[in-house]
Amino acid sequence: MAAELFSLIDHLRAEKNLTDDALTMLYENRTPETDAYLYAAADAVRRESYGNKVFLRGLIEISNICKNDCYYCGIRRSNRQVARYRLTLEDLMACAAHGYELGFRTFVLQGGEDAYFIDEVVVHWVRALKCAFPDCAVTLSLGERSRQSYEALFAAGADRYLLRHETATEAHYRRLHPAAMRLSHRLDCLAALKDIGYQTGCGIMVGSPGQTWPNLLADLRYMQGLNPQMVGLGPFLPAQHTPFAHQKAGTLADTLWMLAVVRLMLPQVLLPATTALATLSPEGREAGLRAGANVLMPNLSPLSVRKKYALYDNKATLDGEAAENVASLFDWLKTLGYEAVVDRGDYRI
Ligand code: SAH
Repeated sequence: MAAELFSLIDHLRAEKNLTDDALTMLYENRTPETDAYLYAAADAVRRESYGNKVFLRGLIEISNICKNDCYYCGIRRSNRQVARYRLTLEDLMACAAHGYELGFRTFVLQGGEDAYFIDEVVVHWVRALKCAFPDCAVTLSLGERSRQSYEALFAAGADRYLLRHETATEAHYRRLHPAAMRLSHRLDCLAALKDIGYQTGCGIMVGSPGQTWPNLLADLRYMQGLNPQMVGLGPFLPAQHTPFAHQKAGTLADTLWMLAVVRLMLPQVLLPATTALATLSPEGREAGLRAGANVLMPNLSPLSVRKKYALYDNKATLDGEAAENVASLFDWLKTLGYEAVVDRGDYRI
């Protein structure tokens, strides 16, 4: 069996694809040995695309106010235990200036679907960032908006947009979201983003409640179809005061497996080793890089709000999130054999 799986992994690496049956066989019969072989293949493909570079993005969590009520999310509307906050433009510019000094050349603005952020406001914020830091890329992760809105933000200078699709399977989507939300709308948003010209990121939580292997397979097929420039992929982690507070977290092995398969299917993709992965396990981030990830997103949000942007419990922090630690993050990456890159780190066509 192991020999057969090794040859499937070789095939996946060479062809960037496998049949449903072959992927299923690889998933269901994996062992620590075949996983190690898979991660090594993904690591090699990442090196072919990007050498030993690891791209750093500065994450700024601009608001934890959200009109949505996703069952998994710690900042869902119904969670009355959350102390809500919204940064001001001055806060944002101060975070970005601090990040710029540390060397960051990509800023990721993430937040809940906060009604304050009408197009006019986001356009103003994006313009302010681009004007002050013209050599920086701006990534937005502000949820579902109209095509017209995405166009306006793109015209204002936003370069990239992250919108995890969460699951490509209707029944599973229903398990994770209240009736008011629609998978078709989320997928339409992703298609529009890609079409407009954003470097676009989709993605999922691995091990979210009710997720099955056929769901993961459908996610992989969806990703192949969309061919995004980025994929956000981390374990589901339970969040207190949510309907899923007592559900099991996704596993490290499943998350690494998905990271590696995504790397082999989409060799050029920008793939973060996420904060959720680091929260799940102290070795998570390193293991993610070893399994094909090539992006880290240190948090540049003001310290006063960090705890309030709690999508899940016990959120990890990363060296490099404070001025004095950036050097240690670079050193850490160096000891692992990686080179930290702070330039824009655009997707390579
Ligand atoms: N409102 C924005 C940003 C959402 S937060 C949007 O809709 O895109 C970013 C991502 O965090 C989500 O897409 C989701 O995949 C992830 N997330 C939310 N709750 C989580 C949890 N409990 N465990 C792990 N990841 C979670």
